[in-house]
Amino acid sequence: MKEKTLLITGASRGIGAEIAKLFAQNGYNISFCYKKSDIEAKAVEEELKKFNIKVYSQKADLTKINEVKNFVENSIKVFKRIDVLINNAGVSLQKLFIDCDEKDYEYIFDSNFKSMVLTTKFVLPNMLKFKGGKIINISSIWGEIGGSCEVLYSASKSACIGFTKALSKEYGLENIIVNAISPGFILTDMNKNLSENEIEDYKNTLSLNKLGTTQDVAELALFLASKKSDYITGQVIGINGGAY
Ligand code: NAP
Repeated sequence: MKEKTLLITGASRGIGAEIAKLFAQNGYNISFCYKKSDIEAKAVEEELKKFNIKVYSQKADLTKINEVKNFVENSIKVFKRIDVLINNAGVSLQKLFIDCDEKDYEYIFDSNFKSMVLTTKFVLPNMLKFKGGKIINISSIWGEIGGSCEVLYSASKSACIGFTKALSKEYGLENIIVNAISPGFILTDMNKNLSENEIEDYKNTLSLNKLGTTQDVAELALFLASKKSDYITGQVIGINGGAY
């Protein structure tokens, strides 16, 4: 394979870290950012380097335009070309909508949606310059069907779907392929507050009666980044064990 680079947001933990590892294992150079988990990020970086690829990591709060710009500019300095962008960083909030305030709105939409918009804005010129690229946005099942007590989170993930579809139309002729992955429940730090009973109840609603893993999501991301999926664009690929 010719040398390729993945730029992924939020790869210090969870789904992002797993995706970075699978891509590294498959020969991609990796540029990743994270918000605060220095120790975890260092550990991910060390693991990625074992695959004999180039790695760049930076602490960057993606809710702040200057930090996004700086992270993307530094990544391009190191790797010249970004072949694949995965907008993965995100946060959740479980709260009744009636109790949510403007701060909650800003926290969720800035972390989940503004971060995606800004990162894409700064990566896109590089993809246009090299006449192609793949963008994969991590949405959520709740962005498709809506989740009770997660109204703001669900709405931010629906925004991700609209963004994906529109962007795929605007840049299709430039050979830029844009899709969204929509995972169901995947056990990570994001949902570690749920009780065993709650997790069991959710599992019992699934056709496959088992939870998805970060590896399942990473395999789908690798497929969407590969040539095998070159005719897929503007799609939302659900990976949820048959939740609906
Ligand atoms: P996670 O384990 O909590 O990890 C979140 C990652 O995003 C961390 O690397 C975190 O960095 C980073 N991040 C958060 N806010 C950031 C910011 N402002 N700037 C930079 N980095 C930031 O979450 P996850 O479960 O892997 O989720 C990954 C993505 O999948 C999210 O978009 C989430 O909404 C989506 N998703 C998850 C599930 C699920 O069940 N887990 C289901 C559907 C969709 P730090 O470590 O430094 O905080």
